[in-house]
Amino acid sequence: MTERFDFAVIGAGASGEAAASYARARGATVALIERDLFGGTCAFWGCMPSKTLLHAAEIRACGGDYSWERASARRDYMIVREGRDYPDDSGHIKGYKAAGTVPIRGNAKIAGPGRVVVRTDGDPREIEARDLIIAVGSVPKVPKIDGLDEAGFWTNKEGTSLRELPKSIAILGAGPSGTELAQVYARFGVRTTLVSPRQVNPTDHPRSSALLAKMLRADGVDVRENARAEHIRARGGQGGEHVVELADGSTVEAAVIELNVGRTAAPALANLGLDAAGVAYDGGDILRVDDTLRAADHVYAIGDCIGHELSTHLGHYEGETAVKIALGDKIRADFNATPRAVYTDPETAAVGLLLEQAKERGIDAYEETADLGTSAKGYVSESQGHVSIVIDRKNKIVVGAFIGGPAASEAIHEAVLAIKLRTPIAVLADTIHAFPTVSRVMGGIFAKADIALR
Ligand SMILES: Cc1cc2nc3c(=O)[nH]c(=O)nc-3n(C[C@H](O)[C@H](O)[C@H](O)COP(=O)(O)OP(=O)(O)OC[C@H]3O[C@@H](n4cnc5c(N)ncnc54)[C@H](O)[C@@H]3O)c2cc1C
Repeated sequence: MTERFDFAVIGAGASGEAAASYARARGATVALIERDLFGGTCAFWGCMPSKTLLHAAEIRACGGDYSWERASARRDYMIVREGRDYPDDSGHIKGYKAAGTVPIRGNAKIAGPGRVVVRTDGDPREIEARDLIIAVGSVPKVPKIDGLDEAGFWTNKEGTSLRELPKSIAILGAGPSGTELAQVYARFGVRTTLVSPRQVNPTDHPRSSALLAKMLRADGVDVRENARAEHIRARGGQGGEHVVELADGSTVEAAVIELNVGRTAAPALANLGLDAAGVAYDGGDILRVDDTLRAADHVYAIGDCIGHELSTHLGHYEGETAVKIALGDKIRADFNATPRAVYTDPETAAVGLLLEQAKERGIDAYEETADLGTSAKGYVSESQGHVSIVIDRKNKIVVGAFIGGPAASEAIHEAVLAIKLRTPIAVLADTIHAFPTVSRVMGGIFAKADIALR
């Protein structure tokens, strides 16, 4: 028997959940299909466990009494895995049912326009929906490195769910999650090496990356920048550790190798039956959509699988935006003011364009920067870092903002709003910022820019 809905959402990670929940709030009927854990990466193998472990590591680094056993137990509580080996997602399911969403556990395959067949533990279920929303997420990329298969490797799954600390670890790739987990491991006494082909967190402002590298080194992480793993000798080192040979001729020895070299949606997209719904998919890491998030008529795609930025907040925004558009709202997705953050101690956060990126787009841009360490906030909290703002001279607005320092992920939101609303610098300079805060340092830059732009 065919079940009919307004929306069928494939994948119940942060993005799919947001789409389903918003569609229900607008009165639509929704089937939410998930083959593994309702809640997806963020809840069980990403944001929640990693932030819980970072919190414990920070208390420990400040001299607090936070054992690994306690940190691991607290993480297990967060991912609902106490006394079991695999997380329990029944809390998520309960929430959907209370809201009137129909959760369906099984593997979804598109069978035609608006038609999905779900392979479940029992009989297959046939779903018809006016709009399909594809939210199938991403999985870690596995690079072709000689010897890697023989050595074996961890991904974010093992890295966030480990109960026993390894003796030593080499993390390949220094994006946000690799950088965050490097700090966790090091602060809990694991000999940790972070290998990055460029700077730490390569897409961040160079000042933020430099701060991350410096603070990680202070935590005891062996940070290898501009380094690339070329070959691995499995169990070829002292005490049976793996030896990672880098392109510059140096080596790293570690008991565990963890991959953090990017993510891909290809495995999920390739088996989804996209062509049955008229979706053109080129076989790449992501599915391309336009700024209405449409992949084809009445087919939308959101979250990691469209690859704009891999974050829960963006997937959430895309989920709600896709539903709004499907319901007839005359809007388009606006990615200009998407915040990005690394939740280490200290944090880094960013929004908008770096100076070079702004110039490449033909903007008459310049950068103002302030040293956080010599600000009142820096002095009282003994913290280092920077606040840097990229300014469009002609329009007298902010087009990029970058912070390295305490609570950067909170302070960035003033710039997020300023970019979103194209708020004039004069208005930002006329805004009162509490003393002493990182935001006030940003306020000082606005005041300086206001004078420079007169
Ligand atoms: C270690 C780590 C830390 C992170 N920390 C943060 C953070 O602090 N803040 C932040 O904003 N972001 C963070 N992220 C990123 C964030 O977790 C992801 O961007 C987000 O979870 C993506 O959500 P999604 O819904 O697009 O995909 P997912 O959460 O991956 O969900 C996709 C779901 O689709 C299901 N699926 C796939 N194919 C099918 C099918 N055919 N049928 C049925 N189901 C299917 C999968 O089983 C999966 O559950 C982190 C990521 C990692 C790895």
